[in-house]
Amino acid sequence: MDLYSGYINKLIEELAALPGIGSKSAQRLAFHLINMPQGKVERLANSMVQAKKNVRYCTECFTLTDTDICPICADSRRDHGTIMVVENTRDLAAYEKTGKYKGVYHVLHGAISPMLGIGPHDIKLKELMERLSGQKEIAEVIIATNSSLEGETTAMYISKLIKAAGIRVTRIASGVPVGGDLEYIDEVTLLRALEGRTEL
Ligand code: ZN
Repeated sequence: MDLYSGYINKLIEELAALPGIGSKSAQRLAFHLINMPQGKVERLANSMVQAKKNVRYCTECFTLTDTDICPICADSRRDHGTIMVVENTRDLAAYEKTGKYKGVYHVLHGAISPMLGIGPHDIKLKELMERLSGQKEIAEVIIATNSSLEGETTAMYISKLIKAAGIRVTRIASGVPVGGDLEYIDEVTLLRALEGRTEL
């Protein structure tokens, strides 16, 4: 006999499939949701559906946005000749929070990982190269992938391609701890990594 109703089981199952949520957390969340007022649950469900429906990639930098061109790419005060390459939108947000970086970004949506079978074609790398060849004045491409094995592999791969295209390419300093996820690192460390970047 099932301990819970079929609906509760289904909800627990869906929640447990989310990253970082084990079966105990999933149970706790499920019961919390059931005890919430109807209107609140509907707002939550609706915001998930709306986000999924409306969020798309910026056609220029591939970050997640509600519009064709994200606010950063649309901002003429930003330095469009400096492009920082990051693994995901959360890393972009981490650098934006410092408020000190004035260039634009390119979001790869992943990193090359031979072990996981993720190759150069599985990330937004072709899009980066197309962007670079289509844009005239690129002063610098800053590679800010994580300092994990995957991040370093990706940085090496990309730098070779970009250097071959005759564009200046730098890598953020490894003030960022090895295996460190950019989004968890404080702003001071992020800025230090950016300022201490080296030529590749
Ligand atoms: Zn953009």
